[in-house]
Amino acid sequence: MNCIPFIETKRLAVKLKPSAEKVVKQGHPWVFEDSIVKQNIEGAAGDLVIVFDNDKNKFLACGLYDPYSPIRIKLIQFKKAAQINEDWFEEKIAKAYELRKPLLVSDTNSYRLLFGENDCLPGVIADIYDKVLVIKLYSHIWFPYFNWIVKHLVTISGSETVVIRLSRSLQTKGEVYGLNDGDVIYGDLTNEVVVFREHGVLFSANVIKGHKTGYFLDHRHNRKMVGELAHNKTVLDVFSYAGGFSVHALCGGAKEVVSLDISEHALLMAQNNASLNAHKGKHEIMVADAFEGLQRLINTKRVFDIVVIDPPSFAKRESEKEKAKNSYARLAKLGSQLVTRNGILVLASCSSRVIAEDFFAISEKNILATGRTYTALEKTTHDIDHPVSFKEGAYLKCGYYRLH
Ligand code: SAH
Repeated sequence: MNCIPFIETKRLAVKLKPSAEKVVKQGHPWVFEDSIVKQNIEGAAGDLVIVFDNDKNKFLACGLYDPYSPIRIKLIQFKKAAQINEDWFEEKIAKAYELRKPLLVSDTNSYRLLFGENDCLPGVIADIYDKVLVIKLYSHIWFPYFNWIVKHLVTISGSETVVIRLSRSLQTKGEVYGLNDGDVIYGDLTNEVVVFREHGVLFSANVIKGHKTGYFLDHRHNRKMVGELAHNKTVLDVFSYAGGFSVHALCGGAKEVVSLDISEHALLMAQNNASLNAHKGKHEIMVADAFEGLQRLINTKRVFDIVVIDPPSFAKRESEKEKAKNSYARLAKLGSQLVTRNGILVLASCSSRVIAEDFFAISEKNILATGRTYTALEKTTHDIDHPVSFKEGAYLKCGYYRLH
């Protein structure tokens, strides 16, 4: 399981600007490069950095040095000093697993075992699909510790195969120790398309070529809810990707489901995922830009009992925030016109820059703008395998509205 050669690390000591120090004292895991006012020696990726208090020179936090990112130090341990050794990783991974246990009593064998900063390991994601563990790295800081991480993830999850995925920026900067995106680094992978269960519903993900680690696990609870609402209903799933919501709806007894996405490939995955499960409903796919496709459906006077709109992140940069809000407004308006009387509109957002409060306010204002009234049935965030420990970690929100 030793896929990376031994990498020697140094220990650095830093002090920060008072404003940054305050944020660290509150337990925030990011230190930006321009917040560092004193640093004893030059750092390399993965070096351990101790942050000292300006006043009393005492330990505040420690983290790992990332020369390739404006978030120069990713903090992993606060308040109390600790040895960052194999035991430390074993303990963090065990704690992460413990948090997911309540989910694993359901008929689910796919889950996020590590969610970056939120599980004390910034820039590393570990998703499990049945017996396959997919580790996605977004930062070089983990290479010196990688063998320990893999060992303990495998031990606790019982995975038989490990696939490594590397973010684009990681592949273009710095040393990657001979690893390639999509390498199988442990065990065998007979088929890159892995079948797994989500609350009893079968799905498949391409763990080598799929987006992120192959599938989006964060909406599991929302998909289950849509499945439970869908009996005998007609459902429109906009930005359907591999059919997460569509397939749950079909398995929940929907009469008819339309999956709409701009990517034909995604819709083929959705069809394939639907065919893995026994269901009686009709499944239609629609390749279209969502805004155009929704308008076309409105023009043909088609309506659905349930409309789910779960777009990709519209605000990857701060400068895109206003445009993103505008897109959410347009989608809420378009969606509202496609819901039957007393039907349900489900609106989701995964842009962390648009906070939940703003997203729900935009959604509600624009439902009303179409002349309809609503009852807010439920507002949800991530499923429990996506714990949130800092502000930027909270990206997912989802509102359920009954439209009158
Ligand atoms: N709802 C999905 C996840 C959505 S991911 C789930 O539950 O798993 C975002 C999807 O939006 C991708 O499949 C992408 O192809 C699609 N997409 C991006 N831009 C689009 C557009 N303008 N119109 C329609 N689909 C779009």
